[in-house]
Amino acid sequence: MTAALVTGASRGIGRGIALALARAGLDVVVNYASNTAAAEEVAAAVEETGAKAAIVRADVALSADRARLVAEAYEAFGDIGLLVNNAGVAPAVRADLLEAGEESFDRLVGINLKGPYFLTQLVANRMIAAGTAGRIVTISSMSAYTASVNRGDYCVTKAGLSMLTKLYAARLAEHGINVYEVRPGIIATDMTDGVKEKYDRLIHADGITPIRRWGTPDDVGRAVVAIATDLLPFSTGQVIDVDGGFHLRTL
Ligand code: NAP
Repeated sequence: MTAALVTGASRGIGRGIALALARAGLDVVVNYASNTAAAEEVAAAVEETGAKAAIVRADVALSADRARLVAEAYEAFGDIGLLVNNAGVAPAVRADLLEAGEESFDRLVGINLKGPYFLTQLVANRMIAAGTAGRIVTISSMSAYTASVNRGDYCVTKAGLSMLTKLYAARLAEHGINVYEVRPGIIATDMTDGVKEKYDRLIHADGITPIRRWGTPDDVGRAVVAIATDLLPFSTGQVIDVDGGFHLRTL
């Protein structure tokens, strides 16, 4: 495998994945939505490792943007062996389940769920046409199974990604394409910056995660590298928790 397409690679977890893949020797398509300076910084850091980078600005929620993203990715590197559906957003305002509005719901469904659903369809068809084995990874969240009643819209989109993974894993196995869900826990990025104090307390004082530290984008990047370097060849539809053990039930 030589090249990866990482959505939302300009910041946070996507940036960590892009850099980890580059260090493992893969060229990287750095997709982003609006922060050009951040995308350029990631591309430069990718190139510092000796790998190649291509930057593509595209909103994964938009059909025309997704088509252009895939076309430009294949134009840049000839073949894409790994798709990482990472781009995602939290609600602009956390609102109670009994009050939250449709606007936020539609925005999150578009970016977090519809985007990866149809981007995966596009890339899977290209992989099948190319006849080369491929890998698809979707970054969901512990919110796929944890009910947070002040951001139900986010939780619903992440739960949907779990089914996306199962569906594409079942459909694509015959084509040599393995599909995985990587489920991060609490990771230090811009997304969690606004709730830093709350999570600091939950992690360090309350021990909400058996491994008592914040996760890093590189923690997630390493899990994706394991998939990209084919360390899990007989696993598909698999969930990989990168959450310091948050998912454990303890007594
Ligand atoms: P982040 O720091 O806010 O970064 C989000 C990234 O997604 C940026 O690169 C952003 O591009 C891009 N993006 C946003 N909307 C986009 C769109 N419509 N089209 C294309 N790219 C778009 O977020 P993060 O914390 O790294 O989260 C990354 C993924 O991990 C998300 O799916 C999130 O739900 C998931 N996750 C995060 C955590 C956590 O604790 N941080 C935990 C579990 C799961 P710009 O720079 O151009 O805005």
